[in-house]
Amino acid sequence: MTAVRRWTWIAGIAACLLTAPALAQHAEAPESGRWQEMRYGFDEVSDTLELRYIEQVVALAAAGRLDTDRVLLRRVQAIGNGLVAAAAGLKPEVAHWQWEWHVAEAPGVEAHCEAGGKILVGGPFIRALRLDDGELAMLLAHEVAHVVAEHHRETLSEAMLMSKPAVPVEVALERLDSDVPLQVRLAGLSHTQEREADQLGMVIAHRAGWPARAMTAFYGKLTAQAASEGGAPLIATHPSYAARLSTARGLARLLEP
Ligand SMILES: [Zn+2]
Repeated sequence: MTAVRRWTWIAGIAACLLTAPALAQHAEAPESGRWQEMRYGFDEVSDTLELRYIEQVVALAAAGRLDTDRVLLRRVQAIGNGLVAAAAGLKPEVAHWQWEWHVAEAPGVEAHCEAGGKILVGGPFIRALRLDDGELAMLLAHEVAHVVAEHHRETLSEAMLMSKPAVPVEVALERLDSDVPLQVRLAGLSHTQEREADQLGMVIAHRAGWPARAMTAFYGKLTAQAASEGGAPLIATHPSYAARLSTARGLARLLEP
């Protein structure tokens, strides 16, 4: 544990002693209507995760690996902003969130989002898959859907419920990053959220005007890439690519019969 992390942990425990258990607040995910139990507020989750996001972006910029492909960055921003406008039709407050789009020139970065609308995608990943605009829209729409459905806030809230007594959000985040048994216990929720992000993302992309064939093409490329790479993660946080492709095909038929 670094000095900063130890300080954060100690500060978190101190704050915990002063913090009364948070009252549950129920939310409903757009489209699926799934009920979520929220123990942390939107602002405290967004502010905490923004710090982690800024650290990551600053490190990439310092290494000369951020937004160097200006053409790709402009594509990501234009497509992303269109998706947010479409998502606002399902949840109006998202139009007022501080959305940001960046491209990391780092191998291993596929796509990543933080609560409140911070999206980072990998330039090498997008170029390797040769994503056209519709397929790129699907990649971004999945991340936008995670943000719109407030999955970070839900996961942190669930982590807090699993590790009573109540702790500040910084402590819950620390545990999520380092506590493997907790990660295993949350794998079921992660699967649910990934399925939801796929489906909500497709609905958002469709509302933004992207064709259904882009959905199946994008998940088809992911499936082919996974098959060529082989192997499986230690803790499976996502449904299999074959299952995601099957869902995309089914939803594409529903959206464009
Ligand atoms: Zn995801």
